[in-house]
Amino acid sequence: MTIQLNDSTLLKTQAYIDGQWVDGDKGETFAVTNPATGEHLADVASVGADETRRAIIAAEKAMVSWKALPAKTRSELLERWYSLIIDNQEDLAVLMTAEQGKPLFESRGEVAYGASFIKWFAEEGKRVYGDIIPSTADRRGVVVKQPVGVVAAITPWNFPNAMIARKVAPALAVGCAMVLKPAAETPLSALALVELANRAGLPAGLFSVLPGINAQAIGGEMTSNTIVKKVTFTGSTPVGKLLMKQCADTVKRTSMELGGNAPVIIFDDADLDAAVAGVLVAKYRNSGQTCICANRILVQEGIYDAFIEKFAAAVKGFRVGNGMDADSTHGPVITEKAATEIHAKVQSAVAEGATVVIGGQAGSQGACFYEPTILTNVTDKMRVFREEIFGPVAPVFKFSTEEQAIAMANDTQFGLAAYLYTENMGRVWRVSEGIDYGMVGVNETAISSEVIPFGGMKESGQGREGSKYGLDDYLETKYICIGGLNR
Ligand code: NAP
Repeated sequence: MTIQLNDSTLLKTQAYIDGQWVDGDKGETFAVTNPATGEHLADVASVGADETRRAIIAAEKAMVSWKALPAKTRSELLERWYSLIIDNQEDLAVLMTAEQGKPLFESRGEVAYGASFIKWFAEEGKRVYGDIIPSTADRRGVVVKQPVGVVAAITPWNFPNAMIARKVAPALAVGCAMVLKPAAETPLSALALVELANRAGLPAGLFSVLPGINAQAIGGEMTSNTIVKKVTFTGSTPVGKLLMKQCADTVKRTSMELGGNAPVIIFDDADLDAAVAGVLVAKYRNSGQTCICANRILVQEGIYDAFIEKFAAAVKGFRVGNGMDADSTHGPVITEKAATEIHAKVQSAVAEGATVVIGGQAGSQGACFYEPTILTNVTDKMRVFREEIFGPVAPVFKFSTEEQAIAMANDTQFGLAAYLYTENMGRVWRVSEGIDYGMVGVNETAISSEVIPFGGMKESGQGREGSKYGLDDYLETKYICIGGLNR
């Protein structure tokens, strides 16, 4: 076995449907590889539309008794699942680093972050309140919140654990059932998660995991099947738009956590060291492959040169390598194709006049590596301004005025996360309210946790994950008019 786990039974390679580990109907499998080494890790069952349909039917059946349980009982199962995840944090982290590439310390952090959503929603699920609306003397309006129904979820490879946990936890907490397709690059984390849910006592059918390389067949069934009442997706904006169109025919509710193009605005009055430290995390965490990664660094002209100097010195200290090595600060990107696409964006910027301060090349450690890169002399016409880079490349733009910074920040179809560094409290409010983003970090880039509403505006999506608002995505609001009270 190429992945060394304390509990080797957490390495699952079959689909989990209706409480059973099964192969795909056609016996097809797909290979999972380690992006750091190119090593073959496992062959995983690949399912299609038929298996997806069976999982959906099982979910509908399982939901009948699940939603009828007291919220406290559902909560207890989620709490057990949370504890098992924490107990197996190291194995889950090793699986994640093996298939996704991020350094082990980041994987451990993601496992804890993912688990925090399960604990949070185990608690919040007990607080699904309604309203009583005063009406005429002989009637009352009662508002109740009910589970939306069977939910289908599709998740990406960049956070193979947390993107699943923050969907399935609120869904199960309020009484829904879920069928989930994980990304083809990272199915092992998803399968280990559902194995732990199984050990926690998950009823058969309530949460099925459908690995597969035929995303269109699985997604097609999920979006067309009338049993499914809601589709929740995290991934790229083009796929999100496609799924929304597919959902239109059966008028399903959707939640979309899509791409970003986050600006970090650093004003002349900023604490420069704090800004550099914040950008290092926001840009290079997960080798630049997060939806809230700093994509455009906007620096005011008065501190531009000083910022570049400190920033470049810090990036030079990175140790890029296999995420399994304890001294690696940064790992590979997900595939060789991704590394090629990142390089194409850098080359296109350089061809249009950008300067490479550091990096700008494929990494020497393997096919999926790309050097941490800083670009200056960049403009708003370049692809690195317009497009999500999704790699360890930091283009640093110069601006003069607050108005210009706000206009540059908003000059994108995306609106997920933005950050600003300033010591001026008036500016904090003006800029925070003036930029069109679902989340704004002020003098802080580590903004996400289970207690906050995570989500975007514009083409970055709709819906919120985490916090008390994260329950709403899985609830229907029903109005009951109770009349004849004076009879
Ligand atoms: P992606 O290509 O959109 O894939 C995401 C998921 O969608 C994968 O499971 C993929 O399956 C599936 N998929 C692809 N085409 C499909 C189709 N036609 N029908 C049904 N499912 C389909 O995105 P990615 O490259 O993996 O992830 C990176 C993107 O996710 C970035 O844009 C990033 O910003 C975004 N993201 C957003 C958030 C957020 O919270 N807003 C968080 C993380 C990531 P296969 O793997 O089998 O192709």
